[in-house]
Amino acid sequence: MIPKNHPRYNSLIEREKIKDAMKKSYLAESGMIAHGRGEAFDYLIEEKTSKTAEMAIKASLAMLLLSENPVISINGNSTALAIDQIIELSKKINAKVELNLFYRTDKRVKIIKELFEKKGFNKLLGTDPYNLKYINGLESPRATASKEGIYSADTILVMLEDGDRTEILAQNGKFIIAIDLNPLSRTAQMANITIVDNITRTIPLMIKISDNLKNKTEKELNKIINDFSNEKNLNDSLELIRGKFK
Ligand code: ATP
Ligand code: MG
Repeated sequence: MIPKNHPRYNSLIEREKIKDAMKKSYLAESGMIAHGRGEAFDYLIEEKTSKTAEMAIKASLAMLLLSENPVISINGNSTALAIDQIIELSKKINAKVELNLFYRTDKRVKIIKELFEKKGFNKLLGTDPYNLKYINGLESPRATASKEGIYSADTILVMLEDGDRTEILAQNGKFIIAIDLNPLSRTAQMANITIVDNITRTIPLMIKISDNLKNKTEKELNKIINDFSNEKNLNDSLELIRGKFK
């Protein structure tokens, strides 16, 4: 048992969840490494959501609400850390949820599908190998997508995403929103909007402010997006980290 008043309580709880996912065999070994990399960057931003990240979160929600076919792309790590919040967000913003595994095995797909079903969510896309298409005909495991989900999506919310896949999605005209603790990763650099924050804080915050944004007009939502510069926002996130070394 991790005592609640432990200074690194959240971080330790997240480790437990990742370890548990590994034991249940739906998280690949490399998922643990990806988590560790995230932890290091989280440490540098003091394990809290910055004002800069909040701005990116607001712009992301505006974009998701204006989209025709928004999709939340998930994997083993995001399932382990935020399954309940992902389901709740998808309902709030009317987005589909699609599974994409870097190290895809039938077993992992089955376990994750069942985890969602246990929560009453039966619409997880990307689980049927016969219903997967290749984006732009690119026959790479990085390019698979379900027809009604990522393949035809206009906006995709990715997290713990691999740079090669982000590149394929971006090159095919998808609007990419990335939640990535490392502002220097290729995914963070290539996304249209980059939220430099931990998914365990970002997704609950998205749920919290989505009602407020849903009350806004299309014009107001467009203004939020137009006033947002991802280049500036990413630089501000880097500046925050640099500040730790001054
Ligand atoms: P890229 O392929 O985009 O260049 P990478 O190879 O450095 O990135 P990956 O392992 O492919 O890293 O992707 C994992 C990314 O997710 C890393 O940038 C890591 O910092 C980030 N990350 C890990 N855990 C979290 C988390 N809980 N919330 C948000 N981001 C996270
Ligand atoms: Mg990578």
